[in-house]
Amino acid sequence: MDLSIVIPTFNEQENVEKLHSELVSTLKKINKSCEIIFVDDGSTDQTFEKLERIARRDKKVRIVKFTRNFGQTAALLAGFQKSKGNVIISMDADLQNDPADIPKLLRKLNDGYDVVCGWRANRKDTFGKVLSSKISNWLMDFLMDLNIHDSGCTLRAYKRRTVNDLQIYGETHRYIPAMISSRGFKVAEVPVNHRSRFKGKTKYGLARLPKGLLDLLTLKFLVTYGSRPIHIFGGAGLFLFGLGFLGGLWLAYEKFWLRLSIGNRPLLTLVLLLLILGVLFILNGFVAELLIRTRTTETYKIEKTVN
Ligand code: UDP
Ligand code: MG
Repeated sequence: MDLSIVIPTFNEQENVEKLHSELVSTLKKINKSCEIIFVDDGSTDQTFEKLERIARRDKKVRIVKFTRNFGQTAALLAGFQKSKGNVIISMDADLQNDPADIPKLLRKLNDGYDVVCGWRANRKDTFGKVLSSKISNWLMDFLMDLNIHDSGCTLRAYKRRTVNDLQIYGETHRYIPAMISSRGFKVAEVPVNHRSRFKGKTKYGLARLPKGLLDLLTLKFLVTYGSRPIHIFGGAGLFLFGLGFLGGLWLAYEKFWLRLSIGNRPLLTLVLLLLILGVLFILNGFVAELLIRTRTTETYKIEKTVN
């Protein structure tokens, strides 16, 4: 199988048929063996019935139906795991992404990249959405050192090996390019067409901004310290303990040399607090080290081996 198209779909009954026919006409031009995987993320409208009807006429179409709504990230992951293609395309079901861009993504992928992201250069969304996405892309560039314009565009092409052990969870599908790039894969972007949503409603509001920030911080933490947590916990712990120790020395000097009473000094409370916090941080680091020793995923990626 050459190509798998993965499409998370949640209450898109008015869009799936048109999307399917647009996809079919694009795929005809590409002339590769392919499958279209719709992941029905617990739709409560007629989406699944429509998809079933499509799958009856078109044997390329496969459906994965969730028991309830698990979110776009989970739907993408399920699609990746069920897919068989050497190359995987992900896209939205709401017709905002244009299937006609797929050949462009594939061409760029063939130039030697592992992932090609769509960049909605002329984005057809509300001002609030565009602004929040600008902010999160800027933050991502700052923290993750991946300089692409539009991390949130779901229209992307991936080589199989980049999604094989991708660990996405919660709402982290927006950080897939950063995750993949943090493992040393080459990420590129191409401008793609973006269309207004004509049918159905958007599933996201402004709450995505704080959630996205927390996800980004988690990702930064995992990428930097995920295999050596004692360095951040222990570093903070040593710093706090050191401050407490210096304060304690000062108090000892006052008590034993200057013969002052220190029992009622606020500094004494602070010193105790810093010492205790420091020890707790370091112990937390040990616990984190124990935790990562239970994991099974690899902490490196091999490009190739010779002999
Ligand atoms: N989606 C999904 N599960 C969800 C929310 C969204 O599968 O819980 C799908 C949705 O059907 C669409 C895509 O993810 O195909 C993007 O969602 P949406 O268009 O609402 O996002 P927006 O374009 O407004 O950012
Ligand atoms: Mg949309």
